[in-house]
Amino acid sequence: MNYNKNFFTIFGNPVSHSASPKMHNYLFKTLNIDSCYSRYLLKDGSTLRETFFKLGVVGANITVPHKEEAFKACDEVIGIAKELGVVNTIIKKDNKLIGYNTDADGFYYALSEYFPLKNALIIGAGGTAKAISKKLKNENIDVSILNRSQNRLNDYKEFKTYTWDDAHKLERYDVIINTTSAGLEDEFLPAPIEILEKLLKSTKAVVEVIYGKETPFLKEAIKRSLPYKDGSQMLLMQGVLANHHFINYEYDLKTIEKIMKKSFDI
Ligand code: NDP
Repeated sequence: MNYNKNFFTIFGNPVSHSASPKMHNYLFKTLNIDSCYSRYLLKDGSTLRETFFKLGVVGANITVPHKEEAFKACDEVIGIAKELGVVNTIIKKDNKLIGYNTDADGFYYALSEYFPLKNALIIGAGGTAKAISKKLKNENIDVSILNRSQNRLNDYKEFKTYTWDDAHKLERYDVIINTTSAGLEDEFLPAPIEILEKLLKSTKAVVEVIYGKETPFLKEAIKRSLPYKDGSQMLLMQGVLANHHFINYEYDLKTIEKIMKKSFDI
C-alpha cells in the first residue's frame, strides 16, 4: 500500500471519538500542507512501535490506554514526558522515535492566561492530576492536592495533600483546578459544596479539565463571576503543541492555535 509522505495518525482504544484527526487535518488543509492525519484502533499497546513503522507514519498521537506503552516504544523521550513515563506524541526522526508529552505542556500553556500564579489547588489525584501537578511544580508553582479518598494521594509524597476529612486545613489558592471525573457523566461536584464555597470565595480563577459541558463545578464558578476555563483549551493546546512538532516548527504556536481552534466549530 502507498502512504502519503506526511502521514500522521492517532493510536488508541477506543479511538473513534477522538477530535485529533479533525483538528490536525483542518490545520493541514488551511495552511496547504501536503499531509493527512487518520485514526488507528490499536488493541495491543505492545505492538505500537512495529505498527508505527509498518504504517509508514512520520508522527502520531497516542491516547488512552497506550500512553505508557508509547513511552516504552520511543528511542528518546524529551521534556516532562521523561519524568511522567507517559508519552502522547511521537515523531520519527532519522528512523528513531522521539517522544513528548504535550498534555502537561498544553495544560500549562492554556493556564498562562492567569499568570503569575503563586499556588494552585488540584482537585483529584488520578492520571491527569499527576501530569498537571508535576508540570506546575517544575514551573515553581506551589501545588496542593485535594482528593475524596486517601489511596491515590499516597502517590503525591512531594505535595501537600488533603482528603475531604481534613479540608478545613486548606488555605487560599490562586487557581482551583478540577481534574476529577465528577460531572463528566453525572451532575456531581468534585467535593462537597461547603468545601468548595470556602475555596471559591478566595480564588482568582477556576479550571475544569472536562470539556464540552458546563459541569456543576463550572456552574459554581460562573455563579460567582470567576474567570474560568473548561477542558477544551487543554485539548486544543495539546494538539497545537503536537502539530508544532509535526510540521517541524514551520509556523508559530499562535498561528497554529488560531487555525486549530476554528476546527472546533465544524
Ligand atoms: P482517573 O480515573 O485517573 O482519576 C479520577 C479522579 O477523580 C480520582 O482522583 C477520583 O477520586 C476522582 N473522582 C472520580 N469521581 C469522583 C466524584 N464523583 N467525586 C469526587 N472525586 C471523584 O481519571 P483521569 O485523571 O484519567 O481523568 C480525569 C478527567 O480528566 C476525566 O473527566 C477526563 O475526561 C478528563 N481529561 C481531559 C483532558 C482534556 O484534554 N481536556 C485530557 C485528559 C483527561 P478517588 O481517588 O477517590 O477515586
